[in-house]
Amino acid sequence: MPDIASVLLVTSILLVVAFVLLTVSLMRLRRTTRQLQAALADESGARDRAGLLLAIASAVNSSLALEEVLNVALTHAGRIMGAVAGAMYLLPPGGSEMRREAEYNLATRAKGAVRHLEEEPLRTALTDLRPQVLKLADEASPQLEAGGQAQHVLVVPMQRSGQLMGAMELYLNAWRELTDDQADLLNGVASQGAIAIRHAQLFQAQEENALTDELTKLPNRRALAERYIQEMHRARRYHKSIAFLMIDLDHFKQVNDTYGHLEGDTVLHELAKILTSGARESDVCARYGGEEFGIILHETTEQGARTLAERIRAKVAAATFPGGVKLTVSIGVAATAEPALFTTLMESADQALYAAKQGGRNQVRVADMKTVPTKQHA
Ligand code: GH3
Ligand code: MG
Ligand code: MG
Repeated sequence: MPDIASVLLVTSILLVVAFVLLTVSLMRLRRTTRQLQAALADESGARDRAGLLLAIASAVNSSLALEEVLNVALTHAGRIMGAVAGAMYLLPPGGSEMRREAEYNLATRAKGAVRHLEEEPLRTALTDLRPQVLKLADEASPQLEAGGQAQHVLVVPMQRSGQLMGAMELYLNAWRELTDDQADLLNGVASQGAIAIRHAQLFQAQEENALTDELTKLPNRRALAERYIQEMHRARRYHKSIAFLMIDLDHFKQVNDTYGHLEGDTVLHELAKILTSGARESDVCARYGGEEFGIILHETTEQGARTLAERIRAKVAAATFPGGVKLTVSIGVAATAEPALFTTLMESADQALYAAKQGGRNQVRVADMKTVPTKQHA
C-alpha cells in the first residue's frame, strides 16, 4: 500500500507537468494566432493597396470628371495611410500657386484655398518630388471637421515627366516613417492622379476649342445654340423676355476684294471687339457664321434690344478699321416674353435682318412678333 505522502508527491508532480504542458500549448496557440493575424493584416493591406490602385485606374479610365478621380485617389489613399483628413491641390499649367480641388474631413469646406509653391510644407516636399511626412507649423495646420488640428502632413507631389501638376496632402495625428512599400504605393497613386489631371486638361481644352471661333475667339454657332437653350429655360422659369440680334456686315465681299482676305479677317476680329464691348457681361455674343454675328440679350425687352442694336450700328459706322477700312452693319432684332415664341426668335431676327438689307443696309429692323405663328412645344 503506498503511503499518503507518496500519493501526494506523485499527484503534485503530475499536476506540475500538466500545468507546464498546458502553458506551452497556450503559448504555441497564442503565437499561431499572432502569426495568423499578421498574415491576415498583410493580406488585407495588399488587398487595400490593390483595391486603391484599381479604384483610381478605373476612375481615370471611365471618367473624364476630374473631381471624381481626385476624390477617389484622395479618400482611398487617406484611409490606407490612416490620415485624419486630406486635401488635393492642383497647379494650373504655368501657374505658381496650387488650388484646392478636393478635400475630406476638413472644417473649412470652401474650395479654392490656395498654396503657393514657395510656402512650407509644400516647398520642402516639392524640392525632391517624393512623398514625405513633415511637421506642420501651427498656422499651417488645418482645422479638422471633428475638431482639433492635425500636427503632421504627408505630402505626395503629383508629377508627369518631371512637370509638377499638383500635390496631395494627407493630415496625420502623429509623425511616422514611410515604408518603401507605402512610398511606392503613394507614387503609384500620384502618377495615376497626374494622368487624370492631364486627361481632364486636354478634354477641357478640346471642349473650349469646339465651342470657340478661332478667328474672333467668340463663342461659335454651336456654343450660341447651347447658350440659347439655357436662356430659354431661364426666361420661361422666371417669366422674362429674351432678345436676339442678328448682325451682318454690309458689302463685306467688297472689303475682301479691295483689301484682301487677310485684311478682311482683321476687320472681323476688330468688329468682334466692338460687339462685345457694346454688350453686357451676361449677354452672349457669338460668331454665327462667316461675317454674321448673333447676340443673345438676357432679360431684355424689344425696346432695350432696339436701343443696343442702334448703338452698335452707330459705333461700327463711326469706326475706322485697321488699314483705313470703313464699313457698316445691318441688324435684325427680335424680342419676346412669350415662351411659345422662343424657338422662332432667331428666325424672326434673321427675317428682320433681311428687311434691313432690303431697306438699304446700315440700319436696324425689329421683327413684329405678333405676326409670328406660335409653336406650342417651344
Ligand atoms: P451684304 O451686304 O448683302 O451682306 O453683302 P456681303 O458682301 O457682305 O454678303 P455676301 O454674303 O455676298 O458675302 C459675304 C462675304 O463674307 C463673302 C466672304 O468672302 C466673306 N467672309 C465670310 N467669312 C469670312 C472670313 O472668315 N474672313 C473673311 N476675310 N471674309 C469672310
Ligand atoms: Mg452674310
Ligand atoms: Mg454681309
